[in-house]
Amino acid sequence: MTLIAPRWFTHDRIHDDLYRISEPYYNWFNRANIWLVRGRDADLLVDTGLGVSSLKLYLSDLLDKPLKVVASHVHFDHSGSCHEFEQVFIHANEHEALCNGDQDLMLAAPIHQFVPQTDFERLPYAEFSASEYVVSACPQAKRLNHGDIIDLGDKAFEVIHLPGHSSGSIGLYDHKAGQFFSGDVVYDGELLDELPDSVIDDYITSVERLLDLKAEETHPGHYRSFDRDHLHFLVKKYINAKKAPLCPSQQ
Ligand SMILES: [Zn+2]
Ligand SMILES: [Zn+2]
Repeated sequence: MTLIAPRWFTHDRIHDDLYRISEPYYNWFNRANIWLVRGRDADLLVDTGLGVSSLKLYLSDLLDKPLKVVASHVHFDHSGSCHEFEQVFIHANEHEALCNGDQDLMLAAPIHQFVPQTDFERLPYAEFSASEYVVSACPQAKRLNHGDIIDLGDKAFEVIHLPGHSSGSIGLYDHKAGQFFSGDVVYDGELLDELPDSVIDDYITSVERLLDLKAEETHPGHYRSFDRDHLHFLVKKYINAKKAPLCPSQQ
């Protein structure tokens, strides 16, 4: 019998104004990072995890200002708790899916088999069953477009539309600090470009754009953060893999 998690979330303080919240009892391979940036006038939450436990309640000790919540894209591991918050933003291409709780585009529908019970080392609550997992709709979500600014008073993040992994994938970039939140566009692991809403040519174009950013630190949707050299390494690795000629057996 699987035990119940004593506490579903944990958090680490990365800098004075940056926290990483995580769901340690969910399979590390698919576990998404939830980023909290503290600003002067408002705080920013980048992504919201699975939505199997109240993120809003967990964050209540860390929050003392208005909170702007941005989903890097609509997939369930990033959008799960969006419905709990008032000010929620997502790219226009995935706005309808988040507002309506489109389980298919969220990849939460059972047909995708992305949420097996075995991915839960402990349960978020006693009656939890992965086969009944559903991401709640978030009808209050607002649309973001490329070039929009998320202003926290002392820092500002530009929305960069980076389709490919999904049609509404975005990154958030603070030009002043060289800080980049990349969602699932780039992370230090196998990049997923064959999902139902993925387009490989768009993905290549999107990651090529990242080479122009002066991103001193990238905080991705999965796994560890990295510096500019490693961002360039990961981008070039992906491009080279996609542009490599097929070996004779595949032609
Ligand atoms: Zn994703
Ligand atoms: Zn993800």
